[in-house]
Amino acid sequence: MDNCLFCRIIKGEIPSAKVYEDEYVYAFKDINPVAPVHVLVVPKTHIASLEDLNDGNIENVVHIHRGIQQVAKVMGINDSGYRVIVNCGENAGQTVFHLHYHVVGGVKMNEKIL
Ligand code: AMP
Ligand code: ZN
Repeated sequence: MDNCLFCRIIKGEIPSAKVYEDEYVYAFKDINPVAPVHVLVVPKTHIASLEDLNDGNIENVVHIHRGIQQVAKVMGINDSGYRVIVNCGENAGQTVFHLHYHVVGGVKMNEKIL
């Protein structure tokens, strides 16, 4: 998608702080971190939101979760733990419509909303 911010980051047209990459996923530091570690993990194929996952692209979920494990290892938070968040749609406040998983850690999160 030419006008998608995260597609452009994946293509290298917009700079990003890469953390991890493989055939299926790209992971980079969030530009506005909410914790010491805040990384976005995105599929290399354009999927607008979690609602756009279907039988034809669902394998991306497995690759994203494997990518999250790699990100946690690279960032040194695999033992201490982390939170994974997906905002889907308007009420969740999704702002970039390319599916992305927030991986947040590096600090003890005392405030739990879930
Ligand atoms: P969401 O609100 O779930 O759609 O999350 C979008 C996230 O993308 C926000 O946390 C932003 O800080 C982040 N973001 C927006 N532009 C960039 C960028 N150019 N590089 C890295 N992260 C970005
Ligand atoms: Zn995209």
